Amino acid sequence: MFLKRLSEILVSTLYPDICAGCNDIIPEGEYFCDCCYAMLDRCETDKFCLKCGTLKKNCLCNSRVYHFDYCISPLYNSGVARHAMYKFKFRKKRYISEFFAKQMALCVKQCYDGVCFDGAVYVPIEKAKAFRRGYNQGQVLAEEISEILGIPVLYDALLSKGKKHTQHELKNVEERYENVKDVYYSEKNLGGKTLLLVDDIRTSGATLDACAKALLAAGADRVYCITGLMTDKKSKLKGKKNGN
Ligand SMILES: [Zn+2]
Ligand SMILES: [Zn+2]
Repeated sequence: MFLKRLSEILVSTLYPDICAGCNDIIPEGEYFCDCCYAMLDRCETDKFCLKCGTLKKNCLCNSRVYHFDYCISPLYNSGVARHAMYKFKFRKKRYISEFFAKQMALCVKQCYDGVCFDGAVYVPIEKAKAFRRGYNQGQVLAEEISEILGIPVLYDALLSKGKKHTQHELKNVEERYENVKDVYYSEKNLGGKTLLLVDDIRTSGATLDACAKALLAAGADRVYCITGLMTDKKSKLKGKKNGN
């Protein structure tokens, strides 16, 4: 018992918990220091149109028909949250997913109150990319959210034929839609299912839309999207149909 505690102290001294925002040492079990936590740019979800997942004043529902039914995110893709997501995605800081999953699960409970989900699905990524990163970040988030909400993960419900370009290479909304057109498909029978589609970041909504289209084609009844971050109006994306 004493030795176990001693080894815990040694480990936490050698590898202290550090803030996902600024790398300061923080108390065990925390994700951010107080300062970074206070700086998180949270989405005020009551000001959002849940149909398209953007601010009501920038609602895209009249300019584009989405295949998903609803979409929402707890945080903006900026500042501390953006930095933390980057570390989770590209720097193998897997533990940061726990923070995002908690925020996302809370957001689902608040915004999709009373919805009975049959399963959570995630956006597939190329095998080489998952190997390089150590995991598919969307799958990790889906697993953790599912655990919190008590819904099953439907593994490999979505498959990818592969994209020509990564989405962030493309600066135009229409190019992004074109790049993911017919890329995703499903070999499952999702007849009548209400699904929670999980991804890390929503920018143009093109990937979520293409995934939702594939889920509906496999029989899904409804697709609710949840992403950790949403790219706000400062997005550099060009295109008249991108209002956020
Ligand atoms: Zn910090
Ligand atoms: Zn809308």
